[in-house]
Amino acid sequence: MNFHKQLFQYMIDLVPQIPIIFLIDFLRYFLFAGMAFLVFYIWKHPFQSRKIQEKNAKPSQFKKEFLYSVSSVIIYTSVTLIVFLFRKYGYFKFYNHIEDHGWGYLILSTILILGIQDFYFYWTHRLMHTRWLYKRVHKVHHDSVTPSPWTAYSFHPWEAFIHSLIMPIVALLFPIHPLALMIFMTFQIIRNVLGHSGYEIFPYWMGTNKILKLVNSNTNHDMHHQSFRYNYGLYTTAWDYLFGTVHPEYEKTFAKVTSKEQGQRRSELQESI
Ligand SMILES: [Zn+2]
Ligand SMILES: [Zn+2]
Repeated sequence: MNFHKQLFQYMIDLVPQIPIIFLIDFLRYFLFAGMAFLVFYIWKHPFQSRKIQEKNAKPSQFKKEFLYSVSSVIIYTSVTLIVFLFRKYGYFKFYNHIEDHGWGYLILSTILILGIQDFYFYWTHRLMHTRWLYKRVHKVHHDSVTPSPWTAYSFHPWEAFIHSLIMPIVALLFPIHPLALMIFMTFQIIRNVLGHSGYEIFPYWMGTNKILKLVNSNTNHDMHHQSFRYNYGLYTTAWDYLFGTVHPEYEKTFAKVTSKEQGQRRSELQESI
């Protein structure tokens, strides 16, 4: 079979997978963002005193965030399909049997994917804050100054494309099992939804521990949406600390949002109203 005929056949073979990939990506977003929305915005949850901003996310922003998120899911689906296509030509390293590399490798490769993404996100995010790219690409995400769970995938299509490239990048570097990919995708949506939830769930002492303060908090990313200039990290604050981009007020704000005293003060205040 000549090259063009074979390519056409491969593309036809992929068609039945389009709705499946789209649905998996969409449901992952919709279920986690929906769950966070129910917990933080509809139900009376135990984190009410942990609201990060005084301002509330506007209901009018939810629809826009949701529609941009659906457009991001379309981009992710397209990139996955392109990766699947090139995989047939042996370009990407996937494997289906865990025993080929063992469980240790599976765990290690998942951690490695997350680590590489953390670094990739930090630098591409900083790049998107340069004037030209910010105005044309990243501004869509920052239109949500007070983010909500629906902001998680609210990106300009070019930004969604930049984020989606992490999958082909890691699949070029080392063999990846679908389970590692699934854990990674679930982890990133949980982090993303929480980072935009508007509430802090991490404990106060995390901010005072030298190692644990390297774990990115919800307050950290929320402050990025307010200030635009600091806190570019995704899973960790390591790169922000290393390259001096941690918001000068971050540690203080985290302590304020998570301190019991503040929670008590707020509930006392609410009772007195
Ligand atoms: Zn954000
Ligand atoms: Zn940003």
